Amino acid sequence: MYKKTIDNFKKTVLVTGGAGFIGSHLCEALLKKGYYVICVDNFFTGRKENIQHLLNHENFELIRHDVTQPFFVEADEIYHLACPASPPHYQYNPIKTAKTNFIGTYNMLGVAKRTNAKILLASTSEVYGDPEIHPQHEEYRGHVNMLGPRACYDEGKRVAETLMMDYHRQHDTDVRIVRIFNTYGPNMDPNDGRVVSNFIMQALQNKNITIFGDGSQTRSFQYVSDLVKGMILMMEQNNFKGPVNLGNPHELSIKELAEQVIKKTKSSSKIIFEELPADDPERRKPDISLAKKKLNWEPSIAFNKGITSTIDYFSDFLKKTN
Ligand code: NAD
Ligand code: UDP
Repeated sequence: MYKKTIDNFKKTVLVTGGAGFIGSHLCEALLKKGYYVICVDNFFTGRKENIQHLLNHENFELIRHDVTQPFFVEADEIYHLACPASPPHYQYNPIKTAKTNFIGTYNMLGVAKRTNAKILLASTSEVYGDPEIHPQHEEYRGHVNMLGPRACYDEGKRVAETLMMDYHRQHDTDVRIVRIFNTYGPNMDPNDGRVVSNFIMQALQNKNITIFGDGSQTRSFQYVSDLVKGMILMMEQNNFKGPVNLGNPHELSIKELAEQVIKKTKSSSKIIFEELPADDPERRKPDISLAKKKLNWEPSIAFNKGITSTIDYFSDFLKKTN
């Protein structure tokens, strides 16, 4: 059995992708619980600003590392988030995205196996592809175009889930899989191309709001603090590997989202319609019965409240950069 090198009293938690949007909130929540947090990130889409306030914390350690390369560290728990999440970013270098999902997950499972750590994979609702059932429950096996531009991410996450289950069956690794639905909140990269950040940034600057397609496609948006609570609850579970959906079932069309953002920001932006990207899912809404039953979890932040603090975050960002 390995001997811990860092601190024998605190739980050591590795967070890959810890400088990203969700990872930065997770690092903060784990530090609040008194854990020693090792944040690993290659800064492809992560930003130092997201974790700047944590850098001097005595229990926080930042390591610049790409998870596609082998990595050796001792940990009790691993939250594996490293992977670009916005379509323009994961499609920028699709081969790298597939490698991050496959080789990156394989390397982190190696750490889990060697150090006997629990490992949680941040999977995605994208494993359901453009779903034929609504809402999506965990037993649904999905409708993914393995040849399309989203496949590097969708199939990448699907193979990452497969690796998790194979490590569990073959090596008895203690694995957990969460399937995250669209999440928003402070620390999103203002330029990463996701719909919430795009619309708020456009509205705050009175620029045209770019709806792809006719805006009838739907998403269900969860606030980041709800997700982080769900992820930690999942790590704390015994005898439940998942996969489990973590999302907010409050479903909105993209057009409704644009209208709400315009109203909330009192913007003079006009809506314009652009071409719908290939394989863009038509509807998405989580069935969260399993999370309710197994984790006693459900989201608590209403869209109205979450979107207001997200608008405040981007508004501060614009003030600082202008
Ligand atoms: P993000 O892009 O803000 O964060 C991803 C982080 O991973 C970044 O800090 C990035 O620099 C880092 N990273 C990327 N490739 C890496 C590599 N090869 N090695 C080391 N670090 C690497 O995205 P996010 O929204 O915070 O998403 C975090 C995780 O949650 C991702 O795995 C994503 O697939 C998953 N997820 C997010 C959402 C969402 O709505 N935000 C939905 C479903 C799943
Ligand atoms: N979208 C849009 N305008 C934008 C960015 C995205 O209309 O400026 C649409 C996109 O086509 C999709 C939805 O908003 O239908 C959510 O897109 P996002 O990239 O946030 O996430 P995902 O498609 O992965 O759920």
